[in-house]
Amino acid sequence: MDSTPPVVRPRLLVVEDEGHLAAGLKLNLELDGYLVDVAGTAREAGEHLLGATYDAIVLDVMLPDVNGFELCAKLRESGNFTPVIMLTARGDAEDRVHGLEVGADDYMVKPFELSELLARVRSLLRRRQWEKGEAKQSAPSLLVFGDAQVDFDTHEVRVAGEPKKLTQLELDLLRYFSENPNRVLSRRELLEKVWKLRNSNNARTVDNFISRLRRHFDDPKDPRFFISVRGAGYKFIVVE
Ligand code: CA
Repeated sequence: MDSTPPVVRPRLLVVEDEGHLAAGLKLNLELDGYLVDVAGTAREAGEHLLGATYDAIVLDVMLPDVNGFELCAKLRESGNFTPVIMLTARGDAEDRVHGLEVGADDYMVKPFELSELLARVRSLLRRRQWEKGEAKQSAPSLLVFGDAQVDFDTHEVRVAGEPKKLTQLELDLLRYFSENPNRVLSRRELLEKVWKLRNSNNARTVDNFISRLRRHFDDPKDPRFFISVRGAGYKFIVVE
């Protein structure tokens, strides 16, 4: 009898309407050891997502029905946090920021090298695996402040007992604040650590997200938790 334990192959969903590209991606991802389903439209993707749990989604932005940004935003709103790599022909910073704002985890600009996409898929799955292990070992998954309760594992958020829906990026930002309480964090540091954008000066993106956190958790007119530090950045105030 063969006693080798069964190998669990990660399952990927490729959402891409260009037939040649979709077939090439499927073939090469399968050669890399993944189980791969392909959807040509957002609607087909929705059907696959109802029927299976995926380890990652490769999502083209330009689809014939709903665009990839909207599909990704809908996924996150519905509580699906499967890692997403977006594929797009457009590569400017605004689009990258948009992709990350709607909850994508990574971004590839067409035309791309297949080997790079394969490397990014591997790295995304590794990071997710590592984050899961890391979350279990060290970082507390429950954050309590004021009358808010945030569970970073289940993404359950309650303020004064009322459930709230946060996007992945809002949660990531909140988590970074909670890991660095009572310390001034510059917009540049937040863009680098939370948005993974190096040398970015997109201060308004940070300000928008701080406003969103304040609306969820704070008094936007007189914030107690997410404090602006003039000329320096923001501070998350935790009273010990
Ligand atoms: Ca397309």
